[in-house]
Amino acid sequence: MEETDIIVAGSGPAGLIAALALASDGFEVILAGPAPAQTDRRTTALMLPALALLDRLGVGEALAGAAAPLEVMRIADVTGRLVRSPTVTFRAAEIGERRFGLNMPNTHLLAVLTQAVEAESRIDWRRTIVDQWQLDPDAAVARLADGTTVLAQLAVAADGRGSPAREAAGIASRRRDLPQAALVFNVVHERPHGNVSTELHTPSGPFTQVPLPGQRSSIVWVERPETAQALAALSDADLALRAEARMESLLGKLAVDGGRQVHRLGEASASRLAARRVALVGEAAHLIPPIGAQGLNLGCADIDALASIAANNRDDPGSAAALADYDRRRRADVMARSTAVNLLNHSLLSGLLPAQIARAAGLAALGSLAPLRGFFMREGLKPGSGFRALADGLRGRGRAVAGRS
Ligand SMILES: Cc1cc2nc3c(=O)[nH]c(=O)nc-3n(C[C@H](O)[C@H](O)[C@H](O)COP(=O)(O)OP(=O)(O)OC[C@H]3O[C@@H](n4cnc5c(N)ncnc54)[C@H](O)[C@@H]3O)c2cc1C
Repeated sequence: MEETDIIVAGSGPAGLIAALALASDGFEVILAGPAPAQTDRRTTALMLPALALLDRLGVGEALAGAAAPLEVMRIADVTGRLVRSPTVTFRAAEIGERRFGLNMPNTHLLAVLTQAVEAESRIDWRRTIVDQWQLDPDAAVARLADGTTVLAQLAVAADGRGSPAREAAGIASRRRDLPQAALVFNVVHERPHGNVSTELHTPSGPFTQVPLPGQRSSIVWVERPETAQALAALSDADLALRAEARMESLLGKLAVDGGRQVHRLGEASASRLAARRVALVGEAAHLIPPIGAQGLNLGCADIDALASIAANNRDDPGSAAALADYDRRRRADVMARSTAVNLLNHSLLSGLLPAQIARAAGLAALGSLAPLRGFFMREGLKPGSGFRALADGLRGRGRAVAGRS
């Protein structure tokens, strides 16, 4: 049996980042998971806190090489319903930032992370899966599909939405398949995007355009699964025309750039984030629909917290105390963001008037109140900072009003 400090199961973006973060803190890591297939057509918008983590891990510059900045994010209601919300525009400059984050192709993200993991001497990457877990009070034992057995103090479950490690740890996860699928593809457009991302809210889900370098953008078009499949079967020219019509020619004429993919959507959240020497990160812990680019950003926040707790518990990073600390540090943020994204998505799908009114009122308040908008932008970037800034903003308004009277 081989021994190591930490085993990371899963070689998606969360697993690769977790392995790098833990190795950079001096732990010996065995990473188990297949080499990522370079077929993912999605792009990922990573916000400032996730980028700060990736900078610390030495991959920030390489990632930025194929990424576009997100300076403005706009939400527009095109539901055509009786109660509609006004367009809300979030500008990074309003909260004193140059940009909210960077949007990059997943193929680039995975290639850069793969290269960094391969260059890190503390990571031993076994390109195979974990076949079986045995979780004892003192150690996690993983039997790999290549026949080897690894004993570690901490097991990091980065093994995706079906997470066998989560199951082995006995952590329940409520999963719901949504009546939605995301069609993803890239477009070249006639007019510049100006580093603006636009999320159009439709009755079947959001249609989101996110800038890529040059006059290119990625499109995430959430629809009923059968509609998404029908759109995916169109020729490039017809798909481009349908997307242009959906965007009301916001960026002029479009041309589809490369292939397209359909991803079925679901939502799930684990009842706790760690137990029995296993800590969950990424989609093993939380699955949400692609609204407001939260998924992997939440995953990076998990990894950031886990790495700092592991470093503070160097003698035994998988101890019950360390895992309880991790669960405490992450659960509220994961719950708050997942709930907000799921509620927004359900309010779009719901034909019920109260749901429409709540969504419209919420977005209208965001659109008209600068301190509230600032709050959401800061909360979107860094939990906790929005509360402080909102309080400061409101105190400022209070002083201004007092000064006038
Ligand atoms: C259309 C769409 C757009 C999105 N856009 C954004 C965005 O802009 N910003 C953002 O932050 N998020 C976004 N997301 C979410 C983001 O893509 C996910 O959060 C992220 O890909 C999850 O990564 P992961 O590593 O947790 O899981 P996965 O990528 O699913 O990786 C899990 C890995 O575990 C491996 N595995 C499974 N079982 C085992 C085993 N037994 N042993 C070892 N390995 C195993 C699998 O092979 C796989 O490699 C989007 C999602 C969708 C669907």
